[in-house]
Amino acid sequence: MINAYVFNALNETDGPKLTKKYSKSDLMRIAVEEHLKCTEYPKVGVVVAKDGEILSTGFRGEVPKKHAERVALEKLATTDRVGATVFTTLEPCVALQADQATESCADLIIASGVSEVFIGVLDPNGTIYSQGFRTLLENNISVKFFDRKLRYAVEQETFEYGMIDKVIGGGKRRVPVVGSGIDIKVQFSETDQRTIDISWRTLQPSHGCVDLSSSNGAVTIASGATRFNDISDPDVFRFPSHFARMRKDMIAIVQPRGATFCVLIKLIDLFQNDILFQWEVRNVR
Ligand SMILES: [Zn+2]
Repeated sequence: MINAYVFNALNETDGPKLTKKYSKSDLMRIAVEEHLKCTEYPKVGVVVAKDGEILSTGFRGEVPKKHAERVALEKLATTDRVGATVFTTLEPCVALQADQATESCADLIIASGVSEVFIGVLDPNGTIYSQGFRTLLENNISVKFFDRKLRYAVEQETFEYGMIDKVIGGGKRRVPVVGSGIDIKVQFSETDQRTIDISWRTLQPSHGCVDLSSSNGAVTIASGATRFNDISDPDVFRFPSHFARMRKDMIAIVQPRGATFCVLIKLIDLFQNDILFQWEVRNVR
């Protein structure tokens, strides 16, 4: 799918890569090409350019454990970073703790004197969503987004796809729901080992629904809510059950009896054999 949107900008033979001038759309596509090279999740591809010329590129996995923005910027002399434009397929990360060992990508971009950033998708992780975007704006960096079609393509490709049995914190995953379904443990955070079990069962793509289940009385549909932010208090919703028949864009709240946190789950899309869902954990007051 994604390849349909990626032009062969790098395969053209008219002129060496580093002196060729590219349009902003081409640079977005080249960032997506970098994104497709990733060997680690979440996938991120980066192009650093100035006046339409590519200065450097980076992708997640190119240097183990190093974020793609850092990979690309560290290839450049500090003077070359000043005034550059960064095209990144995922919103740059922000410092979550004051004593973080490695500077966040947003801080690195700010410190580098980058003047403009193009973002593919905002981070769906509820705790950092939109914070990189806001941090860059607050530091007088111009922030724009990839073209709509490229954004959608990046979204489909950014997050890990496949069988999983445990997820941590918040995020977004595309998972197969075939046969007996898929059981997932949602752990509160890396350092907080509390878990809640959820299951996805009985995908009925032709009917546009899939069943989300957990223990008796644990699952409540957040009627009317379309975004996690709409839900200021998960306790207001009624009629808990052991499962929820989920349709696209529906949100459910999973809170087993006695649990001290809950999981908000949104069904973003369903396909023939799999679904894309987003989740967020919340402490119960
Ligand atoms: Zn980062």
